[in-house]
Amino acid sequence: MARYTSTIDPVHADGTVCSHRRTSTGKPTQPGCSGRHEFIATCTGNGCTWKKTDPQKTVLEVLRDQHLRSHVTMPAPTTC
Ligand SMILES: [Zn+2]
Ligand SMILES: [Zn+2]
Repeated sequence: MARYTSTIDPVHADGTVCSHRRTSTGKPTQPGCSGRHEFIATCTGNGCTWKKTDPQKTVLEVLRDQHLRSHVTMPAPTTC
């Protein structure tokens, strides 16, 4: 059974993932870091290349959940 994993990462203005330490508001605290510009959500697994960016992490969490649900084939409810 295929497994899909989705991650949400902060990214710099140039699109590279920011793995630096930042303040809670996304301000840079380390040299070489331009601070958090927005977030990127990516899905990996079984050739899926879904990705979305948004300045708001909560927006991406909703989109990510919707996307992951699209990978799940829900069994049809059986009613007698
Ligand atoms: Zn950074
Ligand atoms: Zn996916």
